[in-house]
Amino acid sequence: MIRHDYSRVDPKRRANIDHKKKQFAKAEFAQQHYDHRLNFYTLPPTAEITLEEFETWAINRLKVLSELEACSFRNKSPEETAEYMTSILNKYLPLRSNTSRSQALQEERKKDHYSHYILRLAFSSTEDLRRRFSRLETMLFRLRYKEDDFKEREQFVKSLNLEWEEVGEAEKRELRDQLLAATGGKKSAAGEEQEWCKVDWERVPELVEQRRVFLRRGKAYVPQSQQMSLVVAEFTKWLDDALELTARALPRLDEDDRLAPILAHLSQSFTAPEAAYTSSDASIDGLSAIHANAIDSLSENFPLCMRNLHMNLRANSHLKHYGRLQYTLFLKGIGLSLEECIVFWRRSFKLMTDDKFQKEYRYNIRHVYGDVGGDANRRGRGYTPYSCQKILTEPLPGPGQSHGCPYRTFTPENLSALLQRVGVQDRNVLKTVREDVQKQRYHVACNRVFEYGHQREIKKVRDEGSWSATDLDTIVHPNTYFKRSWLLKHLGEGNAGMVGDDEKMEE
Ligand code: SF4
Repeated sequence: MIRHDYSRVDPKRRANIDHKKKQFAKAEFAQQHYDHRLNFYTLPPTAEITLEEFETWAINRLKVLSELEACSFRNKSPEETAEYMTSILNKYLPLRSNTSRSQALQEERKKDHYSHYILRLAFSSTEDLRRRFSRLETMLFRLRYKEDDFKEREQFVKSLNLEWEEVGEAEKRELRDQLLAATGGKKSAAGEEQEWCKVDWERVPELVEQRRVFLRRGKAYVPQSQQMSLVVAEFTKWLDDALELTARALPRLDEDDRLAPILAHLSQSFTAPEAAYTSSDASIDGLSAIHANAIDSLSENFPLCMRNLHMNLRANSHLKHYGRLQYTLFLKGIGLSLEECIVFWRRSFKLMTDDKFQKEYRYNIRHVYGDVGGDANRRGRGYTPYSCQKILTEPLPGPGQSHGCPYRTFTPENLSALLQRVGVQDRNVLKTVREDVQKQRYHVACNRVFEYGHQREIKKVRDEGSWSATDLDTIVHPNTYFKRSWLLKHLGEGNAGMVGDDEKMEE
């Protein structure tokens, strides 16, 4: 499936390949044609793709799945989820119907197909990952199924050749009352009007649980109107079986040193979604330059991890190495220049002599900015600000250290106290955050606090339609948190100018 410029066949093994076989071998890879928008992913992909496509497509699908998961964590209704997901899906994994006559139809379906298989590889290693992946893929399938063009959906379902047994007329007459009762006793004699099929009851647990089918002799009688549940249940069953098989095949993949690191990285991204930092994150409309003196006031827009560092810095006039590194990278990411960053740290370490600062700290800051040290590539750019994933997967801070994500590193009591200190007074929010944290959904807790602190502004941009759902998607990077917070708190303002400049002039 992967195209690459060099062959990975072990030279010793390559030597054993029969040259005659090689000469007459046919190309094994073929493009698939996708007749339907929906896919049960029963056939593995067989065409070549580049390593770059392999990674980007998987990351895009991962983004979609994590957003779906965030919706379910936040108890969004199916309608709210569908609305929220529309622009996310359009951006990362568009999938148009045949009637759209889009030129990109086959490409979109190919990306959907391949990305599903890549993530299948990445998430089949443990029971927990498999369950999570299957749940989210099922959510995605259901969402798309509901939105699919009626006719196309019918054709798709037919193409699946699912083994459903149709309920004959005689049996329908015999069971008329029971069938009617199963559909909620609607007057329109549903038993006569609707088509029914019967399947083993284990295949439709959702419908059985909701008592929406009639059960007899181990069979569930499903009306046509509930077909979606049946198809979705089939999808989940297929996928669960396939994931088991993939898990067994996984050890062979470990030998592939191109794919193994990518897959490992992807499965790690499932713990906390990865977010790449781009320099555009630092350019905020209206926030043209930041000076050292502005950090105190800007810290109101910082996420809890950075706010905690800032408060510790102010309380102790010092921060230990990892805290300094995490914070310096963040400040660099919000657009603080190297010169201003040095000024910021110099003033913050006010109990320290100038000589000590110059000798022991200044170099490190310059290093982070890429002004000194590092290899040629890194020179000039320095290190990239840490994402939530990076911060959340680092070793826990030791005594006296304050780096990391407080949602993960603080005890529940200390976390509540810290949140109240930064203005989160609502008992419900504090309680739900505590629940999120117990379930290790740290970034969900952080997003909840963000939404609480910006509820009025979020409502405004939503009502006006000035921000799309992707502008308000789940935050997975501290710098995104800052940028979004700042923009929301300065809605409708023009260029805010040089932030911190006035203070500087006053000095
Ligand atoms: Fe910071 Fe991310 Fe933790 Fe929020 S979830 S506090 S942004 S590390």
